[in-house]
Amino acid sequence: MNVLVVGGAGYIGSHCVRQLQVAGHTPIVLDNLVKGHKDSIPEGVTFHEVDLADSPKVVDILKKEAIDIVMHFAAFIEVGESMQDPLKHYENNVAKTVSLLKSMREAGVNKFVFSSSCTVLGEEAEPPFDETMPLRPISAYGQTKADVEVILNYCTKAYGMSAAIFRYFNASGAAEGGIIGEDHSPETHLIPIAIQVALGQREKMMVFGNDYPTPDGTCLRDYVHVDDLSRAHIAAFPLLEENGKLLTYNLGTGTPASVLEIIKTVEEVSGRPVPYDLAPKRAGDVPAAYADSAKAKSELNWTPQYGTIRSIIETAWAWHQSHPHGYEDA
Ligand code: UDP
Repeated sequence: MNVLVVGGAGYIGSHCVRQLQVAGHTPIVLDNLVKGHKDSIPEGVTFHEVDLADSPKVVDILKKEAIDIVMHFAAFIEVGESMQDPLKHYENNVAKTVSLLKSMREAGVNKFVFSSSCTVLGEEAEPPFDETMPLRPISAYGQTKADVEVILNYCTKAYGMSAAIFRYFNASGAAEGGIIGEDHSPETHLIPIAIQVALGQREKMMVFGNDYPTPDGTCLRDYVHVDDLSRAHIAAFPLLEENGKLLTYNLGTGTPASVLEIIKTVEEVSGRPVPYDLAPKRAGDVPAAYADSAKAKSELNWTPQYGTIRSIIETAWAWHQSHPHGYEDA
């Protein structure tokens, strides 16, 4: 299949590009490089430096590249920023997605894979989270993802388009071999921050809250490897052959780890200390979020290959060690 990977130069998109190649598909990358990194695109993969809202160009690319499926990873992801500047997130994550869907209609492409987030489920939900839970986001970012999920529901009904929605829990890790990995600016995620401390790039880190109702008092999250996420997306392609389908999957390992467990594992894998201070709870954090991925397992025959936190952190460590300044070192 010819697959247009929108946001293919970003963290999850770039891993998906490689997994598409492994699976024998032809990825074509579209990215405006506002957040993405050109060096993450493999040699030989066609790259269009285009904004997804540039409809004439997007329609042209969809037609000329004979695209069968569009995978959409291009989004702003910082929750705090979304609360301070919600319109920035609505414009990028919702308005531009509407433009992309319209371009697909114009070009006659009707298969869509969308990168959503477990944050659409909000803070009242009790883990493990399955797909029957209502959408109750508590941030503007989460709301933008929920909005697109609703838009896709209507589009699949109205236009015969088929769509697969994947809600990630904590995407983490890096491709084997340390060639590509996580490089956000600013970095807010736990594993890369702990690794930056191990590398001596930060003196210490903060643990946000230690009196949550969890075994060690710190938040429990479901860390799932980016390559495992990518493989689930690709496994949904055959199901999108049928018109008018809307598929939704929560993707995680189902085995949560606490903040302190992550820090300890980074220390073990790196062989270096990761000092931390206890800090107040971070606004919007829920005590525990982990997935019930039974649906993805049964319908997509998906099993995460990285089943332990250690195996995930080993791949992240390999990337950060060989690229301490991210793609600047590529
Ligand atoms: N966290 C932390 N210190 C940090 C970054 C994150 O204690 O410097 C905690 C955060 O409060 C949450 C967990 O680590 O409980 C995972 O946070 P992250 O931002 O990586 O992902 P999220 O679950 O928010 O999507």
